[in-house]
Amino acid sequence: IVLMFTLHLFFQVDKFLYHMRLSDENLMDVSKRFRREMDKGLGRDTNPTAAVKMLPTFVRSTPDGTETGDFLALDLGGTNFRVLLVRVSSNGKQKVEMENQIYAIPENIMRGSGTELFDHIAECLANFLEKLGIKDKKLPLGFTFSFPCQQTKLDESFLVSWTKGFKASGVEGRDVVGLLRKAIKKRGDFDIDIVAVINDTVGTMMTCGYDDHHCEIGLIVGESLSYILRQLDLVDGDEGRMCVNMEWGAFGDDGALDDIRTEFDREIDAGSLNPGKQLFEKMISGMYIGELVRLILVKMAKDGLLFQGHTTPDLLTTGHFQTSFVSAMENKKSGLVSAEQVLRGLGLDPSPEDCVATQRVCQIVSTRAAHLCAATLAAVLRQIRDNKAAERLRTTVGVDGSVYKNHPQFARRLNKMVRLLVPDCDVRFLRSEDGSGKGAAMVTAVAHRLAKQHAERQRILNTLRLSRDQLLEVKKRMEEEMNRGLAKKTHATATVKMLPTFVRSTPDGTERGDFLALDLGGTNFRVLLVRVRSGKRRSVEMHNKIYTIPQDITQGTGEELFDHIVHCIADFLEYMGMKGASLPLGFTFSFPCHQTRLDQGILIKWTKGFKASGCEGEDVATLLKDAIHRSEDFDLDVVAVVNDTVGTMMTCGYEDPQCEVGLIVGTGTNTCYMEEMSNVELVDGDEGRMCVNMEWGAFGDRGELDDLCTEFDRAVDDQSTYPGKQRYEKMISGMYLGEIVRNVLLDFTAKGLLFRGKLSERLKTRGIFETKFLSQIESDRLALRQVRSILQHLGLTSSTCDDSILVKEVCSVVSKRAAQLCGAGLSAVIDKIRLNRGLEKLSITVGVDGTLYKLHPHFATIMRETLRDLAPNCEVTLAQSEDGSGKGAALITAVACRLRDASSS
Ligand code: ADP
Ligand code: MG
Repeated sequence: IVLMFTLHLFFQVDKFLYHMRLSDENLMDVSKRFRREMDKGLGRDTNPTAAVKMLPTFVRSTPDGTETGDFLALDLGGTNFRVLLVRVSSNGKQKVEMENQIYAIPENIMRGSGTELFDHIAECLANFLEKLGIKDKKLPLGFTFSFPCQQTKLDESFLVSWTKGFKASGVEGRDVVGLLRKAIKKRGDFDIDIVAVINDTVGTMMTCGYDDHHCEIGLIVGESLSYILRQLDLVDGDEGRMCVNMEWGAFGDDGALDDIRTEFDREIDAGSLNPGKQLFEKMISGMYIGELVRLILVKMAKDGLLFQGHTTPDLLTTGHFQTSFVSAMENKKSGLVSAEQVLRGLGLDPSPEDCVATQRVCQIVSTRAAHLCAATLAAVLRQIRDNKAAERLRTTVGVDGSVYKNHPQFARRLNKMVRLLVPDCDVRFLRSEDGSGKGAAMVTAVAHRLAKQHAERQRILNTLRLSRDQLLEVKKRMEEEMNRGLAKKTHATATVKMLPTFVRSTPDGTERGDFLALDLGGTNFRVLLVRVRSGKRRSVEMHNKIYTIPQDITQGTGEELFDHIVHCIADFLEYMGMKGASLPLGFTFSFPCHQTRLDQGILIKWTKGFKASGCEGEDVATLLKDAIHRSEDFDLDVVAVVNDTVGTMMTCGYEDPQCEVGLIVGTGTNTCYMEEMSNVELVDGDEGRMCVNMEWGAFGDRGELDDLCTEFDRAVDDQSTYPGKQRYEKMISGMYLGEIVRNVLLDFTAKGLLFRGKLSERLKTRGIFETKFLSQIESDRLALRQVRSILQHLGLTSSTCDDSILVKEVCSVVSKRAAQLCGAGLSAVIDKIRLNRGLEKLSITVGVDGTLYKLHPHFATIMRETLRDLAPNCEVTLAQSEDGSGKGAALITAVACRLRDASSS
């Protein structure tokens, strides 16, 4: 009978509150509407009219556990105004200790002038510092200011409008940090460093984030209600994520919830301080739940459904039915007893039925609050899941607020409804302890750590950044070294060897015939057949085949190396159907060689990882001929030994007679140019010009670059095949840039400045960071997500967005320095050519080859800028050479054959 009676009562109440009870479909619909509101708030064009403002907070990182130090926090806008000292220590176990003091803010100050309010806050702060004896320390402070604000920086925030009973004049529209700083300065008895101003929701998320790295949502259901969602892609650009303060309490202010708002919601709104505003908050937060119940009870009493139609002055008074009563009445065990007590406390004389009915009203109101909260939270979860393009989302919501924590059923109802609305998310709800106090300190601690780390990273990166003066110095020293290399007296000790190539003229277009070319010294070894046509059909036609030279052969004996080369030539001739043919051959041999004739090259030293024995000091043309004889397969006429730079210059020279410089930026780097014979002291004769192979990669080997070298350059040099050699090349070319970056990343990680300080085994592997990754990562078209996938590919799986931004910065710094150094060297070369010729202005073309130069997104541009800056009197055209080392060798051979034929006839 009791059950029947209760059911009947429930039925009556439920019928009366029909509009307050929302079905799953209703809630799903609210969730969808809210998702649209979020989009509207985030969109640049739609934001001005959006009800849910989605305010940026400028908080971009969560704690990583290494934060440490003493921090102050102010908490304004919660139930109490408080000042806190938070001690964060990271040694071993993460630990947070707090001291806090609550201060009253008298009613007259809350609604007085803004100056009075901030003077009062500064006064409380002074009192707190005094009490703890830390007034002389300038500590960093975080300011939790839980009102709707337009934030512009981490430490600058403009109050949009007061809420929660505050009404101090002259503050709306002003920067609250500025007002606080002013009030402190006016006193002059202490100084602090205000680092961050945050909303309590940010604090909640940050506090939970300290314990759980998955925490990316902060939710508060207390006196007021709001929540935050971190890591939302920024509206502006996509570099990273930022915590957004949703201010979702305003959901519905544009009428979006009118169909589900009841007469009671409208009544509450009409009697509030801010009618028409915060309509969603008014359906959910602790400030209004009790009041909603009261209004319903009054109406039911007036309709004769309760208290036999009686009301009391207490029941009729706004605010006399507190939200805590609702919590008490919904307690499973003591709920009914509480109901009776509460109602009697209001002067009523409730029957048992009245108590049951009141309890039911409470249940309906608080359930609606929990379910509406779940509907909007579900929308946020779906948004995060979609942002991450994840099938399932695993995330943590940090929660705070008296309703969530004190109401006996709220948390359970919220969790249950969220799971029902977004079944594909694994959500963990983590209670935040004192988010607004500790959280502000946490944000400050993180900001403090980030600032320190940022400064430390920049200090390190600055060692890799070159000033204009430094670049001019490089130009000057290169010039000196060139002159030393050219002069007989100083040649022996010069680092830049300035080797004569015996190439004296560029093609004139009458060359013709079939030529073989070999290209050794680059990434690939190739054999080429080049058909050069003259006259009307002037053209160059090429066939080539790439062969690998196994590592053990580059490191074996010279005989093995050259036998292998001859074997490849034989294979190529057979492949071309020319077995046994005897053709003139040009040998592109891209290592430093002494030449006394065009068809001879004495290897000075191996570079770029080659190490075959018995070659240094020998003529490579002879080594090749000997190997051909050993094979007894075919015969070849070795006409020219050519450096790839010379080949590059010749190839461009075939199209553009102004081309008198050849530059390579590939595996290694090197340059050649046309020098006056009078300056080439190593070769007799003063007539005309000769191409000089600079071998500029060795610049710096006598210490000329030591003052620019960083610890990373030294590390790369130490780990290289020839420590101490090719120092300039090691700062510029494709074989080394990735390694420099890898060494910087290792250093950053070891110092805890990257990858959360976690050193991966992969990153320790030499050569893992290829130079082509620099090109990919630095590409402007690449989204951050793609940078991340490259890092993941490198086994750096736990990298964050911030890590990606940083890696990109490291790559740019390293490649920029390379391009500038290369440009500085080149400016010395072209200015020398200009001065050789006594010209005011020089117009010249540089033929360039090399994959780094060709494929890196910014290398060419930066090099061109450097040239323009350091050699302003030269107008330089940078022309990309197509296959200089192959085609060029054939062209040189063709020119030589033409000259030889001419002299023998
Ligand atoms: P080589 O100089 O050996 O004749 P390349 O001109 O092809 O050969 O240069 C090879 C070098 O280019 C390698 O060191 C490699 O790291 C680098 N490299 C390859 N791809 C790229 C790329 N996309 N961006 C920058 N550098 C690259
Ligand atoms: Mg090459």
